[in-house]
Amino acid sequence: MIITNKHNLPKAFVSLASEEYEVAPNEYRVTSLLRGVRETMLLRRHNHEIEADVADMAWLLFGTAVHSILERQQEADSELKEERLKVKVGDYILSGQFDLYCGNRKCITDYKTASVWKFIYRNFDEWRQQLLIYAWMLRQYGFQCEMGQIVAFLKDHSKQEAKRKADYPLLPVQSVKFSFSERDFQEIEAWLHERFSEIAEAEKLPDDQLPVCTPEERFNSGDKYAVMKKGRKTALRVLDSREEAEKWMAKNGKGDSIEVRPGEDKKCADYCFANEFCNYWQEQKRVQEQGQTERSA
Ligand code: SF4
Repeated sequence: MIITNKHNLPKAFVSLASEEYEVAPNEYRVTSLLRGVRETMLLRRHNHEIEADVADMAWLLFGTAVHSILERQQEADSELKEERLKVKVGDYILSGQFDLYCGNRKCITDYKTASVWKFIYRNFDEWRQQLLIYAWMLRQYGFQCEMGQIVAFLKDHSKQEAKRKADYPLLPVQSVKFSFSERDFQEIEAWLHERFSEIAEAEKLPDDQLPVCTPEERFNSGDKYAVMKKGRKTALRVLDSREEAEKWMAKNGKGDSIEVRPGEDKKCADYCFANEFCNYWQEQKRVQEQGQTERSA
């Protein structure tokens, strides 16, 4: 990745952002498997052309800084720290680096930075899956692992909000734990084989024919349904489903038609470093820009 420094931030930021772990051609990191296959392939194929500014990587760097501080701590005899694991899955090598493993507790821990919203909505599926994969990998090395734990630093935590709202996390550091069963390990092993089959297929395809990332992978906000009236440009009401929009029209006796407003792909727009090389996103962007021009005309 080409790192730029448009805002003249200290050079240390640039060095930190430039540190990359180079993977072998048949090797994939755990974090790559958790992304959409299209994003993973585009990032690999265009890594040396993709440009990113350090200012846009601030939270990634913050996460790295937190790791650097924590990794200075001496681990206990029963602990392993920041080890890179490599496990063969079919024709591929799966590689992953966890933060801490405690043999006494049979528990793997990872440190994260996150937004408070993640805790308010208890949106932990991806964290659980990542830890389960690390735990599965540790088991392939002969270690026992039955639990996973995320220790998260909430970068947007507010003490004032914590005092006012019942569902707001009380402290800026939170931990969430998961326990893993034999069935979980069987399921994740099957998922890994399936994911690598998808990757094997994707490797044969040109960029424009890669399967488009799913709405979840694109952080799609969900389609909205606008009740429109003839001769009026703005909606009378915008609702989450066609059914709700139809009910609203029937109840209020207003509106002539329903306009579907496609959900926003937040990841594509703001968080995918491969978006410049993605024909799906380039087309979406073109349609959106055209719509904006037509509306303002
Ligand atoms: S721009 Fe969107 S669809 Fe394209 S690779 Fe990135 S996340 Fe996937």
